[in-house]
Amino acid sequence: MPQQHILKITEIFPSIQGEGLRQGEATIFIRLSGCNLKCSFCDTKYAWEEGQQYSVAQVLDEVRKIRKGFPARWICFTGGEPLLHDIGGLTKSLKKEGLKIQVETNATLYRTLPVDWYSISPKPESYDYRPEYRERAKEVKIIVTKNLDLESIRRLRMRFPEKTPILLQPQSNRKWSMALGIKLLRQALKAGLRNISLSVQLHKIYGLR
Ligand code: SF4
Repeated sequence: MPQQHILKITEIFPSIQGEGLRQGEATIFIRLSGCNLKCSFCDTKYAWEEGQQYSVAQVLDEVRKIRKGFPARWICFTGGEPLLHDIGGLTKSLKKEGLKIQVETNATLYRTLPVDWYSISPKPESYDYRPEYRERAKEVKIIVTKNLDLESIRRLRMRFPEKTPILLQPQSNRKWSMALGIKLLRQALKAGLRNISLSVQLHKIYGLR
């Protein structure tokens, strides 16, 4: 008998997409366990270790069950770092059901997958990312951490096509981070950098997961 492909998953839940340009859209999240970076400011540290083993069939069952009461058209793979896992078979099965796929990644890993929306968020200090995302990323989210400066924003802006939006996302919606985001946006405008805007974590304002 072929071996069942097993994924370690922290949670599967319906919500709205709170981040990036898809903000506000009904979405079912599949949060995979583990991360290769372990940022000090991470707001999903529980996903670094916690998780249960699911077969692809079990994930599909869970998604179908959720969609009976919450017929969202988008599935968002998040983490942790979802691309630590081989989600190829699962993404293909979800696409066959007519669903759209978003992947939220720190961009240090890449897999060839049938993804509709790559939302990438390179992390400090290096802000490294895989070159495959240069043309594929639909958006680049930069978390406004205490040490974020104009130079890091400028470097990222230069590396991605101008049509790719760069979003300054406040660290856990903190006031100091929003204030720094406004300051950096003004500096970016003065420096002639294009297609950079402020963002927010909408789900936290609505009290959702
Ligand atoms: S890359 Fe994302 S999930 Fe991983 S530790 Fe950093 S903030 Fe958390």
